[in-house]
Amino acid sequence: MKAPSGNASLMKPCCILNRRTPDLQNKPPMSTVYLNGKFIPIEDALIPVTDRGFLFGDGVYEVIPAYGGRLFRLSHHLQRLQNSLDGIRLDNPHSDAEWKTILGTLLERNHGLAGTHNDQSVYLQVTRGSAAKRDHSFPEHVIPTVFATSNSITDPDPAVTEQGVAAITLDDIRWQYCDIKAVTLLPNVLLRQQAVEQNAAEAILIRNGLVIEGSSSNVFVIENGNILTPAKGPQMLPGITRDLVLELAEQHRLPCRETGISEDRLREADEIWITSSTREIIPVTLLDGQAVGQGSPGPLWKTIIEFYRAYKESVRNGTTE
Ligand code: PMP
Repeated sequence: MKAPSGNASLMKPCCILNRRTPDLQNKPPMSTVYLNGKFIPIEDALIPVTDRGFLFGDGVYEVIPAYGGRLFRLSHHLQRLQNSLDGIRLDNPHSDAEWKTILGTLLERNHGLAGTHNDQSVYLQVTRGSAAKRDHSFPEHVIPTVFATSNSITDPDPAVTEQGVAAITLDDIRWQYCDIKAVTLLPNVLLRQQAVEQNAAEAILIRNGLVIEGSSSNVFVIENGNILTPAKGPQMLPGITRDLVLELAEQHRLPCRETGISEDRLREADEIWITSSTREIIPVTLLDGQAVGQGSPGPLWKTIIEFYRAYKESVRNGTTE
């Protein structure tokens, strides 16, 4: 057999195009990605198979929504990126100003693919690059791989938010550095898949009898009019949406507190919410097959979501970050 040559050792993050396809006119427009200093069509974005992100999951990432082309809470996301990079002892390849330029340019390049509101979600990833030899320890000279892509997003489906979603509880099987937003997501993948197979939108993770977070979201519990969420620590990802929900609650004088929440309290909750940059604030109305509160989105969710939507609008019109 002929040995693979040049490009064959490179990985393509997207589908393989049948180059013989004649119907080029009907091809959807191709999105642009950023890879190691260049803005290129996604089809041309190639990384070596020796990349440590591919071999070891040795890298970190961020997901940042942008409304009307404006990045939502960028400084918070960049601070968390810095914390994640510090957590894996990898130098940040860019200053905040450089990141802002890179991501802003990416959003502009993909503007034509986004809907009329130009709402997009940016995914960025930094890995510890490639080394000639596969070895767990860090290579001597690291040239990180920097990749970013953006995709059109729409508001959460009102049919879903008005009804709420189902969640299940599962044991938290993850490691001890869950505050690092690492690309190594296999436990989260397996947990979420269990939820999906039980017709649930999310798995709420329990460790030592306490609520930690969702497989890709943070968790809020409403108890007698009080908004409660677990305190930050290495056991969970400090969600940007979570922090904003707490800020909005405080601003509008809604009683809120960071505290330990037992599994029993979760089951007795009047309301449960899950939060994330892409899902925003979603009410959980069914937990392990039992109705949460009245089994429909509660009054505090209806209040907080209005404040959240107003905040989003202020990002869109440029009056806040
Ligand atoms: N926890 C985990 C494990 C997550 O993956 C996410 C979303 N990436 C969150 C919480 C929510 O974080 P954010 O609000 O910043 O999207």
